[in-house]
Amino acid sequence: MTGGTAKSRPHRVTRSSASRSVLIIAALGTLMSCLVCGLMRMREAQLARDEFRNAAGTCDYAVRREIETNLAATHIVRGYINATAELNEAGFSRFAEEAIQANPSILTLEWVEHLRAAGRAAFESGLKARGINPPYIRSNLLIPPRAAKAKDIYEPVRFVYPRDNIDRIAGYDMATSPTISAEIDLAARTGEPIVGSKIRLVEKTRDGLGLPVFLALRAPNAELRGFALIIFQLGEVLEKGLRDLKPEPIDIQFFDLSAPATKQFLYQHQWLRGGTKIVFRTEAEALAPADFKQVAWLSAGGRNWAIVMTATEKYLSARRTWQPWFFGLCGLLLTAAVARHNLRNIADARREEELIYLRELKDAEQALRQSEARYSLAAEGSKDGLWDWHLGSGKIYYSPRWKSMLGFADEEIGDTTDEWMRRIYPRDRERVERELAEHRAGQTDHFQSEYRVRHRDGTYRWFLTRGVAVRDSDGMATRMAGSQTDITDSKAADHLTGLASRLLLNEKLHLAIDLAGSDSRRNFAVLFIDLDRFKIINDSFGHTAGDMVLVQIADRLTSCAQRPDMSACEITTARVGGDEFVLLVGRTGESCGATDLAKLILEALAPPLRLLDNQVFVSASIGIRIGEAGTTPESLLQDADTAMYHAKARGKDRFEVFTPAMRSLAVERLRCETDLRRAIESGGMVLHYQPKVCLVTGVVAELEALVRWPHPTRGLIPPAEFISLAEETGLILPLGKWVLDTACRQMAAWHAQFTDNPRMRISVNVSAKQFTQPLFLSEVMSVLSATGLAPEHLSIEITESVLMENTESTLELLHKLREAKIGLQIDDFGSGYSSLNYLHRFPVNALKIDRAFVRELGIRPENAQIVETIVMLARTLGMSVIAEGVETVEQLRHLSGLGCDYAQGHLFSPPLDSDRVVQLFDGFSSFLGQSVPATSASSPATTR
Ligand code: C2E
Ligand code: CA
Ligand code: CA
Repeated sequence: MTGGTAKSRPHRVTRSSASRSVLIIAALGTLMSCLVCGLMRMREAQLARDEFRNAAGTCDYAVRREIETNLAATHIVRGYINATAELNEAGFSRFAEEAIQANPSILTLEWVEHLRAAGRAAFESGLKARGINPPYIRSNLLIPPRAAKAKDIYEPVRFVYPRDNIDRIAGYDMATSPTISAEIDLAARTGEPIVGSKIRLVEKTRDGLGLPVFLALRAPNAELRGFALIIFQLGEVLEKGLRDLKPEPIDIQFFDLSAPATKQFLYQHQWLRGGTKIVFRTEAEALAPADFKQVAWLSAGGRNWAIVMTATEKYLSARRTWQPWFFGLCGLLLTAAVARHNLRNIADARREEELIYLRELKDAEQALRQSEARYSLAAEGSKDGLWDWHLGSGKIYYSPRWKSMLGFADEEIGDTTDEWMRRIYPRDRERVERELAEHRAGQTDHFQSEYRVRHRDGTYRWFLTRGVAVRDSDGMATRMAGSQTDITDSKAADHLTGLASRLLLNEKLHLAIDLAGSDSRRNFAVLFIDLDRFKIINDSFGHTAGDMVLVQIADRLTSCAQRPDMSACEITTARVGGDEFVLLVGRTGESCGATDLAKLILEALAPPLRLLDNQVFVSASIGIRIGEAGTTPESLLQDADTAMYHAKARGKDRFEVFTPAMRSLAVERLRCETDLRRAIESGGMVLHYQPKVCLVTGVVAELEALVRWPHPTRGLIPPAEFISLAEETGLILPLGKWVLDTACRQMAAWHAQFTDNPRMRISVNVSAKQFTQPLFLSEVMSVLSATGLAPEHLSIEITESVLMENTESTLELLHKLREAKIGLQIDDFGSGYSSLNYLHRFPVNALKIDRAFVRELGIRPENAQIVETIVMLARTLGMSVIAEGVETVEQLRHLSGLGCDYAQGHLFSPPLDSDRVVQLFDGFSSFLGQSVPATSASSPATTR
């Protein structure tokens, strides 16, 4: 019995405990299944949210970068207008066409003039001359046009490119619209590019919307000149930023928060075109925080923007899987099966369940890995490294590319920020940390920093790191992600010439200043080199040729720096701007050798450069600043630049050493301009005359009028010191007119007084600016009739560059001068870039061989060849040849031998004032070792 009881009890116990276990298992199984399902769903949602934030962050960043790049591009317009002394339609159109080609997001470029009432008539006659219809300032863009009412200030469009709607746009007074007027005001006040509110375009574009950007331009005296208006195709700009990203069903909308409420919605990204879109009716609705929605703020061009990114239903559903439900269901089914059929296999059921759980875990893990793989795939695709920093945990993900950029394999760098920070160059680190903190605190729109990082090989590389923070609804940064780009090459070397870049130079300057501070025997100097007339090369041969010239110049500078006589010096050669170079030279002990180096450079630049089968001459002006401890690189460069301007002002092709007095150069220039204006207006200028002697007869065939400025304190100032100032300020026009008038009057008087050389002519230098004035010819004719000088007794000297610019209209003018019997001579021939092939087209009487060839006649045999070639060419074209700057008998003999017709130079006479020049009228036959009657002279201008 006892045994039976004993036997049955365990059985009963087993059974009841088994059924309890079954219940427990059933309950636990159900609970587990639900739990697994719930956990998996949460995990899925978390992954989707992370992915969404990533994608949104990338979009935000891409759009931001595009908008900022485009705004920065507006500065080239400022550069162009500042560099152009006189705007004209053809030049503007050419520039605009190039700008649009370079940046197709630009739709239209306009030049809006800031006009006072007094300028209205002139402006309108300008419209008329250009054939604009209607030719007056208008207050509407519509038809019929309405003339603007009289007021103090107008802001009318002067030029517009493309010209398709020019009749509607040119002449439109922008200040008519109160909104635009306010935007223009802001642009004038800040000097920054200012984005206007969106405008509907006449032109057909992707979305018909334009984004105007205004940029104010001021004259050197700070007076407002007008505005460059650049209209971007909004759609193009935004789409361009997003073009390279993988399309995701995320809705992206742009709002302009600075516009009135009804006009804030700007644009919706095209990924959603045709699909369902989410429409926010009010700004508040658009900006309200929500799950799977991210709002990014951007302040640019004086406006506040919001970029609203929302995950669409499609996006979310693509990230929901059946897995949680499946596993949940499996769990339940299994639980039921276990409970009903297999009471004794509880252990098995448990094992089964464990198995399921493990499987589920594995699946979740796989999903995670997949999303990581996608992430690193994107990162590997670009040459940039990526980083993603979870601010809560402090953990940071570096992409394999990020690590390899520092020379490390994926597993060699961990996931702490220290891996990043401790490799930053100590002098940069504090700044980077500060910039990161500022962005985290919301003080900047995005993080961007350039700094040096220690590579595994011990060298430092320059990296550009950018990133944006993801913020929660309270604005707290929860995460930060971004990219890392290696910019070492662009930092250290100039791409075109391979010389050091401005940045590298800056570092070397810091070093030189520090060295000089710690060692008093350490000397250094900065040479600032600017090419003379480089613009002419660029304009006549094109930019590619200009680049070729720069490369050759860089080579010559490098070989100067490497010469054995400079071996005691450490020299860094850098290119810091278009045609600007800087050499940093340093030496311990003696003076740093800067002036020796400058002389070497001027010599090295003297021989012509080869350029597309032509020879071109390039000289340079050099400013030297002797370095000292306690200065800054910026101030050293600034001073060297000032000295360079001094060298330019004193006639170019030379160097000047900086002195503090030069700092007042700008002030000095202004004073000089005022003095010069007064001198010209009050008849305070004088002419000197230099003879051109016929080498056959020894007779003075012609006198060249050369202007001088008798200054009350500075003495007689030579033209090299004020002609370029006069050209830049426009004073050359009244000055040129005075010279022409005085020279003609004087020659007419001499003709009346001395009758034995009745064919003697006067030649007058005419600068390009004067020559291209529309009224030039009629001015010359009226001077001739007022002074009574016969046209055949006047020659005009112009330089080659005048012929090369604007050839067609120049050609017409030259023919008219020829018809009027006025002579024409090409001054400084051979130093410019005129193509000999074209010379036959121009009705020219004589070529004046540049002084540089004459000077080195005996020294460089190739110069004799050049002179010979010029003489032959002139013969073929029926022109005569005049050699200028003849100083020695030796040179004279050479020139005669080569067949030169006329000579001018100190050997015969320097330029003399009108009283003394009379004594020369007897001629120079004694020089030529022969005696010829003076009256038989022909003159340079009548040979042809
Ligand atoms: P340029 O037309 O080439 O004038 C010749 C310059 O060479 C003159 O300098 C003259 O004094 C100088 N010269 C003449 N013979 C010799 C010589 O044997 N040796 C040397 N070393 N120099 C010699 P200047 O008078 O100082 O004029 C410089 C430049 O200023 C002129 O060069 C010309 O381009 C410009 N210029 C002078 N007067 C006027 C003017 O009325 N209008 C314009 N637009 N430019 C002028
Ligand atoms: Ca001349
Ligand atoms: Ca000359």
